[in-house]
Amino acid sequence: MTEQEYIARVKQLNEYRHAYYDLDAPIISDHEYDALYQELLLIEQAHPEWIVNDSPTQQVGGEVSGQFTKVTHRTPLYSLANVFNAQELRAFDQRVKKSITAETVEYVCELKIDGLSISLTYEKGRLVVGATRGNGQVGENITANLKTLKQIPTQLDEPFTGEIRGECYLSKEAFLALNKRREAAGKATFANPRNAAAGSLRQLNPAITRERQLEIFLYQLVVPNQRLDQVEQLNQIEALGFPVNERRIQTQSIEEIIEFIEQYSELRHHLPYEIDGIVIKVNQSEVQEQLGFTEKAPRWATAYKFPAEFKTTQLLEVEWTVGRTGVVTPTAVMAPVNLLGTTVQRASLHNVDFIQLKDLHEADHVVLYKAGDIIPEIAHAVIEERQEDAQPVQIPTHCPSCQSELVHLEDEVALRCINPNCPAQLVESLSHFVSRDAMNMVGIGKQVIAQLVAHDLIHEITDLYTLKEEDLIQLDGVKEKSAQNIVQSIQSSYSRPLNALIFGLGIRHVGQKAALLITQHFKTSDALFRASKEEFAEVDGIGPVIAESLANFFAEPHVVELFHTFKSLGLSLQMEDVPVTSHSTVEGMTIVLTGKLEQFTRKELTERLIQLGANVTGSVSKKTDLVVAGKEAGSKLTRAEALGITVWTEDELQEHLKGQ
Ligand code: NAD
Repeated sequence: MTEQEYIARVKQLNEYRHAYYDLDAPIISDHEYDALYQELLLIEQAHPEWIVNDSPTQQVGGEVSGQFTKVTHRTPLYSLANVFNAQELRAFDQRVKKSITAETVEYVCELKIDGLSISLTYEKGRLVVGATRGNGQVGENITANLKTLKQIPTQLDEPFTGEIRGECYLSKEAFLALNKRREAAGKATFANPRNAAAGSLRQLNPAITRERQLEIFLYQLVVPNQRLDQVEQLNQIEALGFPVNERRIQTQSIEEIIEFIEQYSELRHHLPYEIDGIVIKVNQSEVQEQLGFTEKAPRWATAYKFPAEFKTTQLLEVEWTVGRTGVVTPTAVMAPVNLLGTTVQRASLHNVDFIQLKDLHEADHVVLYKAGDIIPEIAHAVIEERQEDAQPVQIPTHCPSCQSELVHLEDEVALRCINPNCPAQLVESLSHFVSRDAMNMVGIGKQVIAQLVAHDLIHEITDLYTLKEEDLIQLDGVKEKSAQNIVQSIQSSYSRPLNALIFGLGIRHVGQKAALLITQHFKTSDALFRASKEEFAEVDGIGPVIAESLANFFAEPHVVELFHTFKSLGLSLQMEDVPVTSHSTVEGMTIVLTGKLEQFTRKELTERLIQLGANVTGSVSKKTDLVVAGKEAGSKLTRAEALGITVWTEDELQEHLKGQ
């Protein structure tokens, strides 16, 4: 390695850092970055005379974005040094013990939440500043965005003055839902929950932050002239009413730490949020003081980083499918490979930019991993194994379904088919309309719908209601009995409540929950047509983006027409099938569900409670009225008990809901 090569490495890593920290859109996976970073450390150890100031080893975090005002941290926020195996962890323990006078060292091990560092400053109990870490010295003022999080009180019960630091994150579930919505809307998806959380906080519209369902765990208390052990800090933070992660141990034994790490190497796949390691911190404040800090990180703590599971397989084909909004999405079809316990054959390639960024070629060998532990993603192609004559993956210019020319709309990364009569879009819209959570027309799968469209038997949604057994029997795989069942289930769908119909229409940004909230509020379709954007936005839980989409939708002449037809067909256009909420036990309550539920799915119960007028949220705070705890409930239950919040089992809930 020459010095010039070293400088080139620094430059390359700084490009990756810029994409990750400043743009919230990483180019490579964290594990690949970590490996390059470790290599850089080794080079710098061998050639300390080469080290440049802008080396990633000398810097914390990224640039402070000009779109926010700057906050100079009273005490800097640091990064953490990393260890990758038990041997390195033991070496860390040795280093700690060598440099101190105390006889014993006690450690606290915490989960390393994969989110974004935040700092909350309170003065006499009032939240005055919420900031990002930024470059460690100066962060971005994101107070307005942080105030939208229910878990962050703007006013504490106690006149606390000081700073509380922690991690803001997005649950795996919220991350998946967000990416699904973005993909359908033709927007770039986030690479992982960490980047989604960062992107949600580092943008200028607090209403967008509010919609993203961000959560927090706090782990550090900074009070002027006060030094507390780590465990005392956690206890005080909790007593102030903030969420603190209960999953931790306090120990003097490095073997116990290794056991804890092994335990979470497995358990992490079952946690609702992503963790990328375990943070090991010296507990005693006086020992911490003796050890101090390097340029970048405390010497009294380190992060054990979990290894990622990567598998190599071969790209067989790229499939392009048209969604119901016309977005054309590429999917990689690969030779099957086992990854974290499931066989993976397909991975979304998201959009054209993604394919070009990864420079994918036909028949490439590709390295796969699971983002957010769940979704298979292609990390990169193995260029060394590429055939010399391999061609880049072809980007279609015409719709694979209707052959009309594809377009790139401004502000979108997606390719779109804008032909309103595109059969693939109609098939997707109809499949959504008949699905279980929408009109629940049993027996009509996508294959039947595709044939109905191909045979010119259906041109629009309302044609479903004119289908006869004779039409259906003509189709492949539909016998007399199933034709009867289909007609029967179409008949039964007439009484589906208005929320199911609204959800089934696939209005932009309007999912099941939003459909339920607005129909609960407005009760009839006529009232929905009369409502203005502002009136939609007044409904609790409906943000400005959804409100605008609803107002636009109901103003469309063809939607007015559509509802006239629904009315003449005799569909239920009101919410009379849903229990009236006026005197339910849970009306107005803020409820958290936790643990494994046995009598309901979580979705069913959430929907039921919302119907009964409750507000169902994801985390326990002082504002929570009730926690419903299933089997193996963990930290949320502990927290509820600590805060004295009422806790019901599923049976107790059933008892209270009887007859409602
Ligand atoms: P880090 O994320 O490895 O560790 C420090 C951070 O951990 C803290 O700032 C804090 O935010 C967080 N943390 C979570 N739980 C914690 C807890 N219980 N106690 C204390 N801290 C906790 O360090 P970093 O400097 O923020 O970022 C470096 C990492 O970012 C790299 O290791 C890499 O994985 C990733 N990165 C990736 C790319 C890329 O291109 N993919 C680029 C740059 C950095």
